[in-house]
Amino acid sequence: MAAETVERRCRWCARRFTVTVGPGRPREFCRRSCRQRDYEARQRASEVGLSEHELVLTRQAMDDLRDRLYVLECAVEDVERDLVGAPTRAEYREALDWLLDAARPVVESLGREGRAAD
Ligand SMILES: [Zn+2]
Repeated sequence: MAAETVERRCRWCARRFTVTVGPGRPREFCRRSCRQRDYEARQRASEVGLSEHELVLTRQAMDDLRDRLYVLECAVEDVERDLVGAPTRAEYREALDWLLDAARPVVESLGREGRAAD
């Protein structure tokens, strides 16, 4: 019998990964470095008196993320505008490419964050 798997989001980097369903607590992180980073962040948070749901990150990291999200937000607006009415197949394709181009840097930046600690 094949083991059952479910898709989860990593608690640290939010990347999707699959876990095998079995006894015990399911994995919360996509890889060891993410678990380590989460642990370190929680250690740091308790040192400065933050709750478990607060996180300290650099202004640079926050600004970079905001920039990428802004680009993505604009792309969503463009696509919504472009797809009003009865778009053709080609227009759908173009809209999807546009959206993917805006979304990829966000996804890739999450990957880089994780890999940097490996
Ligand atoms: Zn992760």
